[in-house]
Amino acid sequence: MPCPNQATRPFPVADALPSYWRKHAHSIDEYRSTAHLPDHCDIVIIGAGYSGASIAHHLIEQNVSRNRQIPSILILEAREACSGATGRNGGHLKPDPLFRAANVLKSHGKDAAEHVASFEARQVSEIRDLIEQGGIDCDFEETTVIDVCTYSEGRDAIKASLSEVAKAGISTAKEIQYFEGEEACEVSGVRNAKCCLTYNAARLWPYRLVSHLLEKAISQGVNLQTHTPVLSVTPSSETLEALPWSVNTPRGSVRCSTVIHATNAYSSALLPELRDRIVPVRGVVARLVGEDVPKMTDSFMMRFSQYEYDYMIPRPDRSIVVGGARRDHYTDLDEWFNVTDDSKVTKSAHGYFDGYMQRHFRGWENSNTRTEELWTGVMGYSNDGFPYVGKVCAKDGQYVCAGFTGHGMPQIFLSAKAIALMITTGATEEEADLPIPYRVSPDRWYQDKEHESLKAWRNVTKKMPPHANL
Ligand SMILES: Cc1cc2nc3c(=O)[nH]c(=O)nc-3n(C[C@H](O)[C@H](O)[C@H](O)COP(=O)(O)OP(=O)(O)OC[C@H]3O[C@@H](n4cnc5c(N)ncnc54)[C@H](O)[C@@H]3O)c2cc1C
Repeated sequence: MPCPNQATRPFPVADALPSYWRKHAHSIDEYRSTAHLPDHCDIVIIGAGYSGASIAHHLIEQNVSRNRQIPSILILEAREACSGATGRNGGHLKPDPLFRAANVLKSHGKDAAEHVASFEARQVSEIRDLIEQGGIDCDFEETTVIDVCTYSEGRDAIKASLSEVAKAGISTAKEIQYFEGEEACEVSGVRNAKCCLTYNAARLWPYRLVSHLLEKAISQGVNLQTHTPVLSVTPSSETLEALPWSVNTPRGSVRCSTVIHATNAYSSALLPELRDRIVPVRGVVARLVGEDVPKMTDSFMMRFSQYEYDYMIPRPDRSIVVGGARRDHYTDLDEWFNVTDDSKVTKSAHGYFDGYMQRHFRGWENSNTRTEELWTGVMGYSNDGFPYVGKVCAKDGQYVCAGFTGHGMPQIFLSAKAIALMITTGATEEEADLPIPYRVSPDRWYQDKEHESLKAWRNVTKKMPPHANL
C-alpha cells in the first residue's frame, strides 16, 4: 500500500546537521583507503553505520576463526563514516524485555517470542565483551532503565503484556520489576508516574564504537571509501559468474560477488522493492545541561500517551541526552514520515526540551537545566516493526540488514553476525540465530499491507479534533 510523502529515491542529503556525538571527528571520518575504487572485490558493504561496521567486523572474525583468508571487502559510504542514524541517535542500548515479546507471542508463538526477547537482551553482554576485549573508549555503562508510564491506558496495557509474557515463561520477564502509583513516583522520581518498570540496559557513545570497528577493519585490509554514494546496483556485464553485480557510484563501478545493503532508512533508493516497507522517519534528540543539577544514574523511558514517548540517558559529565519530542510534531505527518532531510530539525522541536527535567522530575524543579544542543537523524521504520535481515529476494548474492525502526542498538550487532555467517558458511537463518520476524521471505518481501506507523498515526489522529490534524 503506497505511503504518503514518497521521496522518489531516498538518498542521504549532503548537509546533515552536526550531532553532539560527531562534534569531534574520528580520524576515519572522511577516510578513503585508496585514491581510486578497486575494479572488483568479493564483498561490497553499502553504508558505514553500526550495521555496515558490524558486518565487516563479523566477516573478518568468522574467516579468521576458521583459518580462512579474509575476503576482499569494500565499504562504500555516501557521506562521512557513521554520519547516518548511528552518529546522531540517543546512545541508548535498551533491549525490550516486554512489548515486542508480547506482540510476537500473539503473531508467532512462544518460541519466536523468546528468541526475539533474548536476542535483544544478549546484545548487551555481546557489546560489553567486545568493548572490554578491544579496550574501546566509548563510555559504555551497564545500567538500570526506568520505564515510566504517566497515563492509565498505558499502565493497563503494560500490566496486561507483563502478565502474558510472564505466563508464557519468557525469560526476560523475570528481570522486570513493576511498581505502581506513589511507589512508581518514588522509584522513578517522575512526578506523575502511574507505573514504572525497571530492567537492564546499557548506554554508550555509538559513533566512537563504530569508528573503532571501522578503524580496526581497515587495519585488517578492509577498503573504506567515504563520500562515495552508491547510485545503483545492476547486473554486471562480467561474463564470469563469480562477479555478477556491478555497484555504481559517481567515482566508477565495482564488480563483486556479494552486495550487502546496510543502508537502513535509505534502503529503498537502491532496492525499490522496499519502498513502503522501510520508510525514512525523522527523529529528534537533544542534550540538556545545567549547573549543580542532581545526579542521575539510571536511564529512562518516558511514556506520556500512545504516541508520545521520550528516551533518556545521563552522561558521565552530568549532561542528559534525550530523544523523542513526538508530542509536538506527531500529528503533522510531513514533519517526520518519509522524510530524509536531516539538515533541519522538526519545526516544533525547538522548545520541547526546555524545562523538561523541571516539568517531570522531583528534585529538579529549581535546576537550571536547559537545551544545549538539538539535532536530528533519520531512522528506517519497517512496515511490520521488525528489521529485514537476510537474502534479497530474486537477487542472488545481495543481502540486506536494515529497517531497525528506531531501535537498532539492541538488534544490529547480532543481526550483522547472522548475515556474516550466512555469507561465510552458507548457514540458514535458523542456523545463524536469526529470530523468525527478522527473516526475509517472499511473503514478507512482497506483502502489501499498510505500514504499521501509518496505521497507528491514523488511529491516533482520527480521535483528535479536526484542527489538531493539520
Ligand atoms: C534521532 C535518532 C535517535 C535514535 N535513538 C536511538 C536509541 O537511543 N537507541 C536505539 O536503539 N536506536 C536509536 N535510534 C536508531 C538507531 O540509531 C538505528 O537503528 C541504527 O543506528 C541504524 O544503524 P544502521 O547502520 O543500520 O543505519 P545508519 O547508521 O543510518 O547507517 C546507514 C549508512 O548508510 C549510508 N548510505 C545510505 N544510502 C547510501 C548509498 N546509496 N550509498 C552509500 N551509502 C549510503 C548512510 O549515509 C549511513 O551512513 C535512533 C535513531 C535516530 C535517527
